[in-house]
Amino acid sequence: MGGKTIIAAAAVAAIAAGLWWQAAPVGSFVFGQVAERRAGRDTLADTGNGLTIVFCGTGTPLPDPDRAESCLLVKAGDTLLLIDGGDGGVRKLAAWGVRLGGLKAILLTHLHSDHIEGLAPAILLRWTGSAARDALPLIGPPGTAQVAAGYNLMLAADARYRTAHHGEAIAPTGGGVLAGQDRAPGTVWNADGLTVTAFAVNHAPVAPAYGYRITYRGRSVVISGDTAASPAVAAAARGADVLIHEALQPDLVAGITRGLDASNQPRTAQITRDILNYHTTPEQAAALASKAGVRQLVLTHIAPPIPSRLFAAAFLGGAPERFHGPIRIASDGLMLHLPAGSTAIEDRSL
Ligand SMILES: [Zn+2]
Ligand SMILES: [Zn+2]
Repeated sequence: MGGKTIIAAAAVAAIAAGLWWQAAPVGSFVFGQVAERRAGRDTLADTGNGLTIVFCGTGTPLPDPDRAESCLLVKAGDTLLLIDGGDGGVRKLAAWGVRLGGLKAILLTHLHSDHIEGLAPAILLRWTGSAARDALPLIGPPGTAQVAAGYNLMLAADARYRTAHHGEAIAPTGGGVLAGQDRAPGTVWNADGLTVTAFAVNHAPVAPAYGYRITYRGRSVVISGDTAASPAVAAAARGADVLIHEALQPDLVAGITRGLDASNQPRTAQITRDILNYHTTPEQAAALASKAGVRQLVLTHIAPPIPSRLFAAAFLGGAPERFHGPIRIASDGLMLHLPAGSTAIEDRSL
């Protein structure tokens, strides 16, 4: 080792030691700068006057570190609605800088746990984000009011603690609760130009289970909810801009089933067989999108979890032959924006 190299190595070591020595103040300064910017964000502020959809959860009960359970946020003008709130979804919205104080209601497609078990952060963030004094509507199929009552019971002590700690001006009594509404198919939301219509889908034995058609200023998005391939979805999606459809690829689920069988986990293996009959394959979703004449198909509720884009073709299988428009496999953080008075479908990743 030459003299110059020794000097250079010593210099690098000295700088590294200096940085290490200064790690606390440097870390504190950098963290403070970034935290200040992040805390001030209002990610959806620039979405303008169109229809915006944020995918906050594109997964299922099958474990996937990258995908929260079912969660979708709809923004139309100043109206914010959450559709389903599975585990982890709402927390992601908050982490992306989406402000939830203005949340007007939560809509449920059905009462499976992966669509309802992550609602608590939505209740809290809407309450303290707006100092709401009224209950947050929870709208869905029969049984929804019971889910609301269950949440209210679970969170009763928490609500009292927060009011006692932060005061009535921040966490007013009466705002940290849900008001459940059991609704029949038909129009479930109609205000400020935004209309949401529930239609029955086929997720037996889960019944009723709903899909939703959302329209705002000439733009329309249809959400299938969880369902076996159903003509009801194609009928509801006729002429819509975007069909957001659940999708399960049986060819890929088969690998998980084989692994469970081979490792003496017969009950879980049977569950992976049972789920095949109440979900829709990507090929079937593509055929429905084609029949409905939508502009774009977005697949969500992705089963099984695919770890990277490298598996997209295997997941889609024969879907591209059945629908000739764009097909997208949603991931958490996908945002679609449909500007009013346009046919454009813009996208970005939060
Ligand atoms: Zn589900
Ligand atoms: Zn389900």
